[in-house]
Amino acid sequence: MNIAEAARKLGVDPAALCPASAEPRFTEVWERMQQEPPCSACGRPSRTSSAVRDPVHGPRWLDRCQDCFLATPPTLRRPLSQAITDIREAAAEVHQRAVLHTDEDGWQDEPRG
Ligand SMILES: [Zn+2]
Repeated sequence: MNIAEAARKLGVDPAALCPASAEPRFTEVWERMQQEPPCSACGRPSRTSSAVRDPVHGPRWLDRCQDCFLATPPTLRRPLSQAITDIREAAAEVHQRAVLHTDEDGWQDEPRG
């Protein structure tokens, strides 16, 4: 799911979120994540931050703890099997072996490739 869908699923009110820049650079996202702001949904320390574009309030930070992130996984841009193949190939290019663990169902709402 995309970030707006994640915010809706978690029941987060965009008006309560901190303003973000329109297109946060990776360094901004990383700085935000290092601060571990409270999860926007449950208040526990967050593990990831993303900008959600609310049509009324503009860009806002959506900070998610591990459980809230796992409840709202991002949509993969390619089938899971292809993503795993890509990761293994990238690891092989740097002479490393990738050991990946996925559950039998893959990502939520994502068909297994
Ligand atoms: Zn949470």
